[in-house]
Amino acid sequence: MVETAIIDGKAFAEGLRARLKGEVAAYTAAHGTPPGLAVVLVGSDPASSVYVRNKAKQTVEVGMASFEHLLPESAREDEVLALLADLNADPAVNGILVQLPLPAHIDTQKVLAAIDPTKDVDGFHVVNAGRLAVGLDALVPCTPLGCVMLLKDRLGSLAGLKAVVVGRSNIVGKPIAQLLLREDCTVTIAHSRTKDLPAECRQADILIAAVGRPEMIRGDWIKPGASVIDVGINRVSGADGKSRLVGDVAFAEAQGIAGAITPVPGGVGPMTIACLLQNTLTAATRQAEG
Ligand code: NDP
Repeated sequence: MVETAIIDGKAFAEGLRARLKGEVAAYTAAHGTPPGLAVVLVGSDPASSVYVRNKAKQTVEVGMASFEHLLPESAREDEVLALLADLNADPAVNGILVQLPLPAHIDTQKVLAAIDPTKDVDGFHVVNAGRLAVGLDALVPCTPLGCVMLLKDRLGSLAGLKAVVVGRSNIVGKPIAQLLLREDCTVTIAHSRTKDLPAECRQADILIAAVGRPEMIRGDWIKPGASVIDVGINRVSGADGKSRLVGDVAFAEAQGIAGAITPVPGGVGPMTIACLLQNTLTAATRQAEG
């Protein structure tokens, strides 16, 4: 039986934002204007609206300029593309983020492709995905970046460790796998067609769950002492009828088996916006350097 450490993503993200505040002040002093982040929201999905408000608040708190563009659900694709062309050309805007999901009548891939890759702070543009895959400097998706920061903070070097990533989406699973490969892990990517998923998971020194299925990964799928990063955010209703958030890992079962685990909420989630701000500063700095 091991003592399972709880990885406090909230505290880590607070520390990261405090460090960024200092770096943003230095950038602003050197360049005369602060780094600027533009967020585009189409429609009024409640979860997306809350997320966009939080992004804007935290952007301002670290000393950056925040530009919010709230378009109605009925906005046409060409209107979104025209806005992105303006933002690409605006020197006050160093980072652009389009909140997903977009309404069904808008082609998400077309919209993501219209963002200048040097301002693509979500790291979803194919140019950034490609640069990450071939080992060039890239803007890296925020949640995966946050996961790897937490792992490196806990473990130091990840070289030689066996990592299993459950989930292969373009926004979470695949970029996490690429980042872990960059850290010299031996990486397995599992998905819905993987045979004997529990056996794959039991091999992992680092187990990443990015599936979106409440508590799917059981305690006895975890190698004793493994570091477990739970990306999943699932709303379930409890016995009392109230809803609560759970991850993709059966958190209670992991206690005493995992060496460390991120809780949900309070683990990976808070890292995402902090990494978005980090990416915005990275983008601004690279743009200033030409
Ligand atoms: P997707 O639905 O895009 O991808 C889910 C992945 O899980 C797919 O690759 C799918 O496989 C795989 N999968 C589904 N069922 C199984 C199964 N039974 N066994 C093994 N693999 C399975 O989700 P996302 O990647 O966008 O998000 C994953 C989770 O992370 C969600 O809970 C989401 O809310 C959360 N999330 C959290 C963020 C944060 O903390 N800030 C940010 C982004 C996401 P296949 O490809 O074969 O279909």
